[in-house]
Parts: sequence; C-alpha cells; structure tokens
Amino acid sequence: MRYSGIINRYRDWLPLADDTRVITLGEGDTPLIRLDRLTRTTGRDATLYVKFEGLNPTGSFKDRGMCFAVTKAVEEGSKAVICASTGNTSASAAAYAARAGLTAFVLIPEGKIALGKLSQALIHGAVVVQIQGNFDAGMRLVKEIAANAPITLVNSVNPYRLHGQKTAAFEIVDALGFAPDYHYLPVGNAGNITAHWWGYGAYHKQGRCAMPTLVGYQAAGAAPFVSGQMVDDPETIATAIRIGHPQSWALAQEARAATGGWFGAIDDAEILETQRLLAQEEGIFCEPASAVSVAGALRDLRAGRIPGEATVVCTVTGHGLKDPDVAIQQGKATRDFLTVSPTLDAVRDVIHGRMR
Ligand SMILES: *Cc1c(COP(=O)(O)O)cnc(C)c1O
Repeated sequence: MRYSGIINRYRDWLPLADDTRVITLGEGDTPLIRLDRLTRTTGRDATLYVKFEGLNPTGSFKDRGMCFAVTKAVEEGSKAVICASTGNTSASAAAYAARAGLTAFVLIPEGKIALGKLSQALIHGAVVVQIQGNFDAGMRLVKEIAANAPITLVNSVNPYRLHGQKTAAFEIVDALGFAPDYHYLPVGNAGNITAHWWGYGAYHKQGRCAMPTLVGYQAAGAAPFVSGQMVDDPETIATAIRIGHPQSWALAQEARAATGGWFGAIDDAEILETQRLLAQEEGIFCEPASAVSVAGALRDLRAGRIPGEATVVCTVTGHGLKDPDVAIQQGKATRDFLTVSPTLDAVRDVIHGRMR
C-alpha cells in the first residue's frame, strides 16, 4: 500500500478519533542509514546507524509532531496556530497550517535563524514576527498569548507534538526488529528525547522491544542539562539548539534516569567537524545541530563509554540545506573551492594535484 504518513501507519498508537481529518504531507518513513566509514575511525566494531530525519517533508523531525498537533488542532476546531521557533518548528508549522487552511503565527529570534528555515516560513504564508530576543523570550510570549486567545500553541509543550514524534522510535524498532542498545539525540527543548522515551516505552510495554539507553548531547554554549542549571545567554552555531531554558526539563531528566543514560556537550568546532565528516565520508548532509548526536556517539565509542559491539542509533534531526550559509563557509574554508581561467591546462593542473 502507498505510504501515507505517520498517522495512517501508527493510528492505533495515537490518541485520535476515528473520523478525524488527517493533515499529512507523507511525513515519517525516513531511512535508517548504517555508518561504516565513520564507525571504523573509532576502532570499535559497533553498529552505528543514523535515522535521517532531514528527509521529512519540510526537512526536519518536527514534521512528525506538527502533523499530529495540527491534525488535533483541526479536530478541536482551532483556526490558528502559534509557536516560538529557532527555525524548524516555524517551517513545519507554516507548512502544515497551510495544508489545513489555518493561520500560522511564528515568533523567531531576529538574525538567529538559518536562511532555509526563514524561506520556508515565508513562502508557506506564515505571519513571521521577529523578536529582538532569543528563543526562550519568544517561548514565554507565545505561552502567554495562547493561554488568552483561541490560538493553538504548537511548540513541543503541546503533548500531541511528542505523540507524533514518538513514531520515529516505532519505525526504528520495526526496521531493525529490535531496539538499539543506545539512542543518541541532539537536545534543545528536550521534546524529542522525551518523545523517543514514550515511543520505545510504548513498544516495550507491549513486549515488542527492550528499552534502549537514551543519551542527549547539547552544544557546549547551550548545555543546561550538562551544567544542571538554566543558561540565560545560550550561544552556538547550531541555531536549532540555541536554547537555554528547555521546556521539557523534568521529562528529559526522567527519560535519562529511567534508561540509565547521560548528557554531554560538543563545542562548535567539533560540531562543524562532524557535520563535514558526515557529508564527506558518508554522503549525509545535515544541519549543524544534527551533527551533535553523531559527535557524541563517536566520542563515547572511542572512549569506551559504550561497549564496542553495541547497536547505536543517532537521530540526525534536520537537513543541511536548512543552513546553506554554514555549509558554504565550511566549503570555502577548505582549499577545494577554486577559480581558474577557462582553459584545459588550468583545469588539468587542478585535477592532477588532487586525485586521491
Ligand atoms: C528542534 C530541533 C532540535 C532539538 O529538539 P528538541 O526536541 O527541542 O530537543 C535538534 N535539531 C534540530 C535540527 C531541530 O530542529
């Protein structure tokens, strides 16, 4: 049967009435890709996969949650949705609201949103409000507004977002036939790590899989789960996780503790390095925030923190085209972006000097 999105595939696992109109763009069903070249560099023979969520309709995992949150908003008769966003939530909200015929209001931090994401919110017809403040300030504002107006809040504090996102865990177990031993995620608001805990937990309860250990990695300049306290001025090149006051603080702590996991931090230089390695060694182009899970898993494998024979899944949260500026800066920093005269000699010189 033709694939038609997470709700149709996992309807029995989602709180939804039988006659609800489903708002879908065919989200989910993303590939689980084995990383052999990068894994070899750790000197271990773990089996390492990435779940490439950048291949969702708007280019990030947010589509799983937004599909379900907007479907529920329509079921409940809502006419508008609102969110604060570091970019991907606004792109997804704008697209799903357009499909449902709802108005989308999105608050974004001025100058701190990747170009691809801004282009998506604008072209899908969202009302885009830049605020002269960061994501955390925007979050406080949209909560206040949604509490006092007939507008549905579609940030990950909306539990339907997490129910939609838990389907990624279902897909992994359905694809492997078992749960991985470890699952690594980049953590910002910590909604997605919570959603995976719910997803694996629901399957585990039915005897379909064991519980994996959930490991969350953050950007070093925005790592409240690592320091144990909120960060007032988060800063990182990984704008998707430039968050100092995570909304799912307690839930994520519970997910970590219940599964025996941990949190760690990766600095911007290592984030960029891992983004480049994924692109150049594995053919997987992700945005900077998404490289954090893979950087964490490679580090923990090398350090022997996880056993060499483990099966590990890393969520790669968003597509690299979301943030073309960073990718182009990275490319230009290498010596392989050249301008030469249009002659055979000039081009031959380049090729001779650079064959592997
Ligand atoms: C939203 C997002 C994250 C963080 O997810 P949380 O649920 O907020 O922890 C990570 N990477 C990308 C690309 C995102 O869009």
